Amino acid sequence: ATPVGLLAGTGRGAQLGLLIRGPEVLEDTRRVGTVVLDKTGTVTAGQLEVTGVHAFGPAEDGPASDDDARRQVLLLAGAAESGSEHPIAQAIVDHAREVAGSLPDVRDFASSAGGGVRAGVEGTAVVVGQAAWLAENGVNVPAEVRDRLRAAQDSGSTAVLVGTAGTDAGAGRATGMLELRDTVKDGSAAAIARLRELGLRPVLLTGDNPGVARQVAAEVGIDPDDVYAGVLPSGKVDVVKELQADGAAVAMVGDGVNDAPALATADLGIAMGSGTDVAIEAADITVMGSHLGQVVQAIELSRATLRTIK
Ligand code: ADP
Ligand code: MG
Repeated sequence: ATPVGLLAGTGRGAQLGLLIRGPEVLEDTRRVGTVVLDKTGTVTAGQLEVTGVHAFGPAEDGPASDDDARRQVLLLAGAAESGSEHPIAQAIVDHAREVAGSLPDVRDFASSAGGGVRAGVEGTAVVVGQAAWLAENGVNVPAEVRDRLRAAQDSGSTAVLVGTAGTDAGAGRATGMLELRDTVKDGSAAAIARLRELGLRPVLLTGDNPGVARQVAAEVGIDPDDVYAGVLPSGKVDVVKELQADGAAVAMVGDGVNDAPALATADLGIAMGSGTDVAIEAADITVMGSHLGQVVQAIELSRATLRTIK
């Protein structure tokens, strides 16, 4: 039988904008010692903006001026990304539409979670994403390009490369790079400070690059040793398991399709209400207002509820 106090706890949760799957969830919440936070859309707003468009060395048959070359990089990337719902894609599509008006149609769209996208645009197979994803698509990514990507990332940008896929005729070329920025949500730093006061260990987990992750961690007060960056969607589960092996029960907080397996693996899965349905389905608690402060409220509520029962 479910103790009356726990039922009352779920009712109180509803008033606070917390959808709690069942009364027993509050008991799991009490055991939590480590709180793993997804970066994009959880700690940050997940509303990226394109802050830089770069074109690399003009192709022989390419556009005449630098401005044309940059415009072409943005246009092709925008078209290729129009099939993706990733926050990176939305930012690139919005910016490309602003600059170019409408975008060309695409064919044969494909994407790799944690890698990037590929699509046929105006007869060219365009690839956008991480260096490894471009390489996988037969793009030659020279050392200078890798260096520029790393420099942008170290400065705190979410940076992706744009290129044309390789064909039977030869390797593809990296044509440019886009830099994007996200902002930390109001209240994230205060919520993380409160987690610490409650004796919990906050951990940052992201598929994004280490440069951005370190910067966000510093902004919200997460220990640099507790930052896991460049983690593939499948790897998020492994990080949760690794932290569980440390002894404390682990809560995972996330919003993306990529977070769903980790939400299910964690002792307690918490989804942001602004997140994808897949994440919400995998979670034990959904936070309706999408503020990290509510995650803290869920933990405080479970502690208060269980104190009442005892
Ligand atoms: P996060 O944990 O931040 O949600 P993801 O696992 O979704 O990260 O993505 C990790 C990385 O994969 C991104 O930072 C980006 O480099 C690349 N990537 C993923 N999706 C896309 C996309 N649609 N376009 C370009 N790059 C992408
Ligand atoms: Mg996310």
